[in-house]
Amino acid sequence: VTAARAVLLLSGGLDSTALLGLARPALALFVDYGQRPAAAEGRAAAAVASALSAELETVRVDLREIGAGLLRDDAPAPGSPSPEWWPYRNQLLVTAAAAVAVRRGLGEVLTATVASDGQRHADGTAEFYDALDAVLRIQEGAVRVRAPAIAMTSAELVTSSGVGDEVLGWTVSCHRGDLPCGSCPGCWKRDKVLLELGRMRPGDEP
Ligand SMILES: [Zn+2]
Repeated sequence: VTAARAVLLLSGGLDSTALLGLARPALALFVDYGQRPAAAEGRAAAAVASALSAELETVRVDLREIGAGLLRDDAPAPGSPSPEWWPYRNQLLVTAAAAVAVRRGLGEVLTATVASDGQRHADGTAEFYDALDAVLRIQEGAVRVRAPAIAMTSAELVTSSGVGDEVLGWTVSCHRGDLPCGSCPGCWKRDKVLLELGRMRPGDEP
């Protein structure tokens, strides 16, 4: 997976950090869209980008007025498939990244979506990214979107990236706030993956 002309959406979590190490895109992009853990995610993104010698750009687009779920408050939108669901978030983030790609003369947006994301919300499926790619392709700019880890587990992505603990240690995944709450799907998934990989011992759990 190499992507010299790509913009990678970097949240500062395990998956996007691993893909940053694996794909070495031209640019990492952190989007502060008004999510509760934005400050922690932004610090994590800056730390991992620096550790992996990647250029990082940050953009702010406040989507709080149209958001929902754990990343906004504890109130789910009607029909939420999972407590963290923020309606249409991924297409909004890919659109922001595509706009940055056009400005920078880059041709591709990469997302670090993994297999389990598609079990939690439709905008984490291969079908969704294929459709979004088609929408981008018919527009000026000729930007493409790709989710190269969509068939992988987080553990497989982290392992194949070769990214070490000294970098993974900076990652944050909590949906609720700037310090890990320990009881949201983001916190659970990070712990589960690091335990599964033997990178964190059971006694290290918060
Ligand atoms: Zn949490």
